[in-house]
Amino acid sequence: SVFAKNMTDPKAERTFIAIKPDGVQRGLIGDIIKRFEQKGYKLVAGKLMWAPKELLMNHYKDLADKPFYNGLVAYMASGPVFAMVWEGKAVVATGRKILGATNPLDSAPGTIRGDYCIDVGRNICHGSDAVETAQREIALWFKDDELNDYEFADKKWIYE
Ligand code: UDP
Ligand code: MG
Repeated sequence: SVFAKNMTDPKAERTFIAIKPDGVQRGLIGDIIKRFEQKGYKLVAGKLMWAPKELLMNHYKDLADKPFYNGLVAYMASGPVFAMVWEGKAVVATGRKILGATNPLDSAPGTIRGDYCIDVGRNICHGSDAVETAQREIALWFKDDELNDYEFADKKWIYE
């Protein structure tokens, strides 16, 4: 389900992370996955998907009145996206830190956007901005049976 089995476990928080078409085209899937893996987060789901426009319009519906909305949807529809769900303690907020600021020129070096891109309209990755947003986005992009509930072998070496 969108929720991990044990929802009361803070380690079971989930977020939706997507590598946008520019990140896929530029060969950055592996590097982006690696950063979340190295941090200690658990991959729950992942797929390469050329998203339909309706899905993208829904995904970004809160930005529908922004001047960049149509361009944003066209950019996201310009090629396949690598969609993922990651799980772990504070993964929503920490995932945003790993991605960096929305505008790559404001993203610190060491973050994904800080290291790999320049323009806000080509910022290579997406991450949910809140726990409720994450639940909505996971349900939008993934079917229930695509989300894998499994024990992480490293768990006791990552969490105290
Ligand atoms: N975006 C843009 N121009 C802007 C602001 C945002 O093209 O002035 C794009 C950018 O790709 C961003 C996406 O719209 O990642 C969603 O905007 P949001 O403010 O939600 O930023 P995010 O949550 O992705 O950091
Ligand atoms: Mg956002």
